[in-house]
Amino acid sequence: MEKEFLVRKIENGTVIDHIPAGSGLKVAYILDLNENDSCFVVLANVLSSKMGKKDIVKIENKELDKREADRISLMAAGATLNTIRESAVVEKRELSLPEMLEEIISCPNTNCITNCEHAMSRFSVESRQPLKIRCHYCERVFGSGEISV
Ligand SMILES: [Zn+2]
Repeated sequence: MEKEFLVRKIENGTVIDHIPAGSGLKVAYILDLNENDSCFVVLANVLSSKMGKKDIVKIENKELDKREADRISLMAAGATLNTIRESAVVEKRELSLPEMLEEIISCPNTNCITNCEHAMSRFSVESRQPLKIRCHYCERVFGSGEISV
């Protein structure tokens, strides 16, 4: 009931739930929602029995593709992705980081060949908690503080 009070249900689109509190706006930024004319709302610091506090992002008339879901999983792994069509949840899944990240972020190493030539960036996930990813080309390892999604 409380959620209904805050925002009406959407008929078609995406609801990203269980985002770590404080990361909801970043998720909206990653998805470029401002640029895309999307009708969206970020709910911040929603009380959650599971997480204490969480953020929720609702986007009308947009479904996420795999690349978008992977980018969000980089900073909000464990969030729940709900796809809604005609007021029904047609898909619900937990966002988890894939083993390999391809063309999602650029390499933080400015000398890396992927930043000089038009090579596709590629990282393997070495560790999830804390996050550590290794560039396939320069082989350097980066933590979450060095990665800009
Ligand atoms: Zn690199």
